Amino acid sequence: MSIFVKDPCGFICITLTYVSIFYADYVVVRWVIMQTMQDSLWAPFHVVLFNSVIFLLSFSHLRAMCSDPGAVPLPQNRMDFSDVHSGSETLLQNEDWTVCTRCETYRPPRAHHCRICKRCIRRMDHHCPWINNCVGEQNQRYFIQFLIYVGVLSIYAIVLVVVSWVRACPECSSDFSLKQSRMLHSVILVLESSLFGMFVLAILYDQLEAIANDETTIEQLQNSYGKGMSIHKMVMSSLCRLPCYNTAQIVKTTGGVHSV
Ligand SMILES: [Zn+2]
Ligand SMILES: [Zn+2]
Repeated sequence: MSIFVKDPCGFICITLTYVSIFYADYVVVRWVIMQTMQDSLWAPFHVVLFNSVIFLLSFSHLRAMCSDPGAVPLPQNRMDFSDVHSGSETLLQNEDWTVCTRCETYRPPRAHHCRICKRCIRRMDHHCPWINNCVGEQNQRYFIQFLIYVGVLSIYAIVLVVVSWVRACPECSSDFSLKQSRMLHSVILVLESSLFGMFVLAILYDQLEAIANDETTIEQLQNSYGKGMSIHKMVMSSLCRLPCYNTAQIVKTTGGVHSV
């Protein structure tokens, strides 16, 4: 299914992601490196390294966004599901395979229907507006790579800003307005990096925990339904769906089958 999902929320999140990355690059190069280490060999080193991380981040993001998350193929011919149309989804007898009446097809165990992608996705974890795609069986590794690079870039940017203010800087300009602009951009960058850094590291922790337990986010929510969810999980499931979706989309239906 390598299609670009037409979702306004996804477009907004992707635009926000790239604007934030380009702003971070601008501040680090223009206001941190060029202002505080222009005569040092550290300047080209950090410019190349910082932009290499950005390149890897963008590459993994594009792969997560454009690759097929594991869409269940649609049948060539229309199938007759008149016997199962009484409920939206039904568990087949003696099988873990289920029927999705929205896609009008059979789907393998652990596949779920995504209302945004309008397809059933194998081993679906969740729909992520930040990659405007589902996180599923086939693109989860790109999503995790993307999270790691965002975490690395955020920490790298914060370290560069902190070091630039802490170390003595004989070559720094003493011009007051320049110093003021540098201070303003530094504060915005540290706030932005802290926000994105904490956000992705928390999701990364959740993803690695889910892999270790061989359980997707949807299955975690299914299993905790009715039992109450830990505060950590509630915060994470909300963050994953920020700013457009909410966990109410995960609907408990009879037969233990859910859709998102
Ligand atoms: Zn479906
Ligand atoms: Zn989706």
